[in-house]
Amino acid sequence: MAAVNKAQIMAAMECPVCYDILRPPIHPCNQGHPICGDCRQQMERLSQNVCCPLCRSGYSLPPSHILEAIYDSLRVSCRFNAGGCRHVCWGKDMKIHEQKCKFGPRTCPRRNEGCLWIGPLTMLAKHCIENHCPSVNLN
Ligand SMILES: [Zn+2]
Ligand SMILES: [Zn+2]
Ligand SMILES: [Zn+2]
Ligand SMILES: [Zn+2]
Repeated sequence: MAAVNKAQIMAAMECPVCYDILRPPIHPCNQGHPICGDCRQQMERLSQNVCCPLCRSGYSLPPSHILEAIYDSLRVSCRFNAGGCRHVCWGKDMKIHEQKCKFGPRTCPRRNEGCLWIGPLTMLAKHCIENHCPSVNLN
């Protein structure tokens, strides 16, 4: 391999919004600064005119397949690691894991009845017992 070391790759793959590794879909701004698709979506919820945090350009380019290919070839940790997931695998396999990750966000089974709770699967049983089970009265 050429003179690009892992630290340089990891620095180039850092998102300026979440300071975590860039996660697909990876969107470059019009000047080429990339951010995660998730971070872009979160910014779009807050503002209609989302611009790059580094240079204030807009985002009108398609996702970067080059950066996504780099992500695929790296060992990455699950995006739900803040919730407690310790899973690490190749980027190309991570999408499959994250779809079934038990630390990923789940909605309440009673959402049709107006419960807006969202949390990890590991907290769902506790939520249902505390909020949706009739309290047991032993008297
Ligand atoms: Zn990000
Ligand atoms: Zn930019
Ligand atoms: Zn996970
Ligand atoms: Zn609920």
